[in-house]
Amino acid sequence: MNSPHTKKRKRYYDFDDEKHLCQQNGKAEDAIQSLASIANDQCALRQLSRAHAHLCLASFYGQEAFSFLKFLAMHIPVEFPNRNHTIKIIMEQCFPGCAINDSHFCILDTSTSKENLLMHDSSHDSRLWEAAKSLGIPCFGFLLPDIEECMNCHSRKLYSASNSVTTITVHTIRGPRPCTKASLRCRDCGAWHGLTSYTVSGLKFLYPHNLCQFLVRASNRVYVTSDVHELLCQSRYVHKYYEY
Ligand SMILES: [Zn+2]
Repeated sequence: MNSPHTKKRKRYYDFDDEKHLCQQNGKAEDAIQSLASIANDQCALRQLSRAHAHLCLASFYGQEAFSFLKFLAMHIPVEFPNRNHTIKIIMEQCFPGCAINDSHFCILDTSTSKENLLMHDSSHDSRLWEAAKSLGIPCFGFLLPDIEECMNCHSRKLYSASNSVTTITVHTIRGPRPCTKASLRCRDCGAWHGLTSYTVSGLKFLYPHNLCQFLVRASNRVYVTSDVHELLCQSRYVHKYYEY
């Protein structure tokens, strides 16, 4: 005789369960399609909260592609020359057939820090590397000088000129990273601002200490991060150790 505590053994195969599961899957797919369709409706998309808009974009592009797209939007500064085009071609390279809608860029979060090189996410390294090899664009960092205003006239009218884009290698604590950099030019006085110095009428100046940049220039094409520079060149901690 079965006690009231004896569990009834579930049947191995239950057609009712399967039917219910199919119905649930169908509803889930319909919901995803419905969310994805909102991504094409700009007015509807703008009225959503950021979190809900991102849910629509994730349904539209697929979770994996959207995750990488969000990463690229943070990884490449808004001011970087041809930024949206670069994101598009990297996405197309990593997810063939994935065409990014221009209107979706304004919904994505952007980084306020120019130190995006340090925003390291190893889960995307293999994709960045493949894109770099295929497109010939060093993708591990898109670097701009970390300033808000012109160092010469304090104007905030700075722009990044596409003819200032060059490729560099940055040695970080995690190893060398092929990157792309650009300079900022002042619209008012014409001063050029690089990663580690700025130029006014042909004269070059270093940034003041309170605006110390996070990179140290080793040559035209080679930079080291400030922590690597500390480790290799100043080594305060090592010298302190040997003093005892
Ligand atoms: Zn200026």
